Amino acid sequence: MPLRREVVVQPLGLGYNGGVRQSALVRAQRIIVFIIVAALAGIALLAVPFFGGGGSPAGDGSAWNGLFAQGSLRAAGRQIALISGHAGNDSGAVCEDDAGVATLTEAAVNAAVVERTAETLRRSGAFVTVLDEFDDRLQGLEAELLLSIHADSCVDASGYKAASYALRTTPADERLLACIDHYYPAATALPHHTDTVTHNMTEYHAFAKIAPTTPAAILELGFLGGDRVLLETQPDLVAHGVTESILCFLRDEDPRIAPTPIPAVESAIP
Ligand SMILES: [Zn+2]
Repeated sequence: MPLRREVVVQPLGLGYNGGVRQSALVRAQRIIVFIIVAALAGIALLAVPFFGGGGSPAGDGSAWNGLFAQGSLRAAGRQIALISGHAGNDSGAVCEDDAGVATLTEAAVNAAVVERTAETLRRSGAFVTVLDEFDDRLQGLEAELLLSIHADSCVDASGYKAASYALRTTPADERLLACIDHYYPAATALPHHTDTVTHNMTEYHAFAKIAPTTPAAILELGFLGGDRVLLETQPDLVAHGVTESILCFLRDEDPRIAPTPIPAVESAIP
């Protein structure tokens, strides 16, 4: 977009005969000052979206904080909603020992990852709301994105997958999925397990409740069975993959068009 702001200079001289030279000179100076001020304002307005102000709540100054928050990657002031899968409702998938005693629950895995993701995003200045599975606040929810965090059953399989609302997928939803598919496996080294995307995911209850303008996805972090070591003992690494996916979306990146070089992951996955 060109850095140009239209300044319509009305023919202020009309009605005067050019005889008053002093007045015309003052008038011309005022017009020049006005043009300069308008141009500066135009440049400032155009600069904001490039530095993290886009979509932030009006009047909180976050757009300008974003100008100076190095490394915040546009998170400052952004409204993010995370569902901690099964929270407030049930335990989700469960791993049991031979005696039938639960040794790992999906709800606990989800909560650990959501808690860490929210903490990192908040440190970057984002407003993060952590929601229960059937949270009343889902109704009409307006946010810059909603991501629901789940994990898959305790079977001997490995991989993650994400889905958005099959009945109303928007380009923003698709870009959010592209961010997840790029950054989540990069952090976790998990394969993409596409053939277990179910209607429970593509017609996930929250998708029908939130405002249609809110981009949303549900992410299955991995399998409690085959990916247990990662999910149970490395929630920081898993949360890093989720956080990077969200930050990709917030900075308007589209990995399908311009993949970003992926930094080396410090922890090795067993
Ligand atoms: Zn679940």
